[in-house]
Amino acid sequence: MTSLAKRQGDLEEVVLEVMEHRETIQTRLAKLVAERDEAQAARDAAEIRRAAAETEIDDEVVAITKQRAVVAGTIPDDLMKLYEKVRDQSHGVAAAPLLQRRCEGCRLELGITDLAAIRAAAPDTIVRCENCRRILVRTAESGL
Ligand SMILES: [Zn+2]
Repeated sequence: MTSLAKRQGDLEEVVLEVMEHRETIQTRLAKLVAERDEAQAARDAAEIRRAAAETEIDDEVVAITKQRAVVAGTIPDDLMKLYEKVRDQSHGVAAAPLLQRRCEGCRLELGITDLAAIRAAAPDTIVRCENCRRILVRTAESGL
């Protein structure tokens, strides 16, 4: 009888340990499920923001493409051809401002000879950077 009682006591102890372990695991599982749900909600919210941003960007591309077509229609054909050619060769940037004697396309300062030639050129003459070959846009801040 004593042995059976001891055996029963041992088994009850094992059952208690298993139940405690089960509770620990259930608590951890509930925490992980909550974290997963939170991460899923954050992902869903990010997806909604991404889709909205994509729509906004698409709308902007359409608007800018229309504006570009209007502006391109006012530019003489030969200049437009040169612009497209330079753009293809210059990573998408065909024209750059000349600011403080520096080409803003390649960021290099122009030499004295190049600056003199640009200074002497008529306002409607197309001038280009001798370094990167981009079309230079002269402004009041060109430093000429
Ligand atoms: Zn340049």
